[in-house]
Amino acid sequence: MEIKSYTYQISRKKTWDEVFRNPVNVEVTSLQTGTVKLNLKGTLNPKLADVENEELQVPILNHWVKHEHKGDILLDAGLDASYIYDPKGGMHGPAVDEFQLDLKKNIGYHIQKNKIILKMVFLSHLHADHAAGVRELPRNIPYIVGKGEYQEYKPELHGNFLEGLDTLFEVDFSHAQEMPYLGRCVDLLGDGTLWAIWTPGHTPGHMSFLINSRDRPVLLAMDAAFIHRNLELGVAPSDYTWDVEQAQESLDKIIEFLEQYPQVRVGAGHEAFK
Ligand SMILES: [Zn+2]
Repeated sequence: MEIKSYTYQISRKKTWDEVFRNPVNVEVTSLQTGTVKLNLKGTLNPKLADVENEELQVPILNHWVKHEHKGDILLDAGLDASYIYDPKGGMHGPAVDEFQLDLKKNIGYHIQKNKIILKMVFLSHLHADHAAGVRELPRNIPYIVGKGEYQEYKPELHGNFLEGLDTLFEVDFSHAQEMPYLGRCVDLLGDGTLWAIWTPGHTPGHMSFLINSRDRPVLLAMDAAFIHRNLELGVAPSDYTWDVEQAQESLDKIIEFLEQYPQVRVGAGHEAFK
């Protein structure tokens, strides 16, 4: 597989007010492929929040962006059907994470049912619950991750999800523009519709997204906040986290941004919209 840099232009819009004044006809639909069990202690960093052990069963989400000109785009891929009968999705070993998936909930099923004609897939990061679904998506479209993500990717642990792809594109945030509150951001499609926000911490190349919908702008924190309580309490997750301090910094940026722009709807990585 060849690694290439994802080409993007620096947006002429330098503030979020300018961006939000020019919204686009774009729809965002969340799709659920299965569930995952988390512990509240660790979903909220126990060093920063007073939390007890409590098991949470939370949805595995990905998002279908329907753009009036650019077509159907996926943000994350969820789970493929291999998890229906095997919680490890065909992988082996004690370190492999387990997920629960019912019949007709895999990403391929959602794609078929909604007649989604996929043009490209952006992956917030390469954990299995966000990337395994790539196994049943078309090969002939671009797949894009944040730079730094693939270098930490271990197929034996994280799965062979990228097998068969000719190219993986990386968003290099080192020359991205600084946007207010959120820091380095990339206008992914060049029309101000879909922005990638550099939010490392959960993983080295983690990206969150902002969709400039005419309806209301939507910020998808992805795994920068597993649940809404991360945002409400201002405490980042510490479980499944590559760098806890960076994860906290990334969450802090998102919270600061949301305080400035209360019209923005926010989605946590593993909880339905509020
Ligand atoms: Zn994750």
